[in-house]
Amino acid sequence: MIVRRLFVTGGALALSGLVLAGAHAAPNLGRKWYGRRMFPLIRRIPIHGAVALTFDDGPGEALDDFLTTLDRYNARATFFVVGEQVKAAPGRVRDIIDAGHEVGLHCYHHRNYLHRPPWEAVQDLDRAQATIEDATGRPITLYRPPHGMFNLATFIESGRRGWHRVYWQRQGWDWEASATPESIAAGVGVPDPGDIILLHDDDRYSAPGSWRRTLAALPRILETAKSAGMEVCSVGELLARAGDYAPPRASAARAQRTDDSYRTGRVS
Ligand SMILES: [Zn+2]
Repeated sequence: MIVRRLFVTGGALALSGLVLAGAHAAPNLGRKWYGRRMFPLIRRIPIHGAVALTFDDGPGEALDDFLTTLDRYNARATFFVVGEQVKAAPGRVRDIIDAGHEVGLHCYHHRNYLHRPPWEAVQDLDRAQATIEDATGRPITLYRPPHGMFNLATFIESGRRGWHRVYWQRQGWDWEASATPESIAAGVGVPDPGDIILLHDDDRYSAPGSWRRTLAALPRILETAKSAGMEVCSVGELLARAGDYAPPRASAARAQRTDDSYRTGRVS
């Protein structure tokens, strides 16, 4: 009898654990076609004649080179920045904005949220938000987690904060050690209208020197988009054209973060 009870209790605990683990990871179904309705992510914006270019993992040592190249092609981009990098050099995000581009939140520490407990992941969001908003003076409106991986807490919390969850439609696999400028440009290919393109402007969390290959591929990617009749824009620009977005204004950040519940790191 006792053995049977232990067996039933153990089975129930194991089942509960599986259900919790499934719930924790569930938002990543949004990356697949069958989960897009339940966990919507922005990967393409319904717009003609333009694509959105995004860079993750900076701002790093090569930022000026990327800004110069983008300027040369009259292209604009969204930079999903890492809090610890912003903390080390807060002026760099201002450089991004002053050059006509846009800043989104990537994380504070670049770790996979799927492998972190909910409270720790939300604390990471809090810390990143405070650091980036203090540096830019503008509220966060765009969000992309490390590796594009959510957990249930960050999915819910990003929605509660009103952030647009930005995924991507095209990428150059530029973080891989085997990537070359040619493979990166080929990976991105010829974009369709409204596509969101993912690249990386720093190598702190990927193969050493990877940003050099991305930078070398960038002119080709921009020329291909131009030849296809596409203007290269930030995510916010495309969302605004689609009528679904109000760009963040300077000085609204602190006012937005005065809500105490915002800083507790708990999911409501
Ligand atoms: Zn990243």
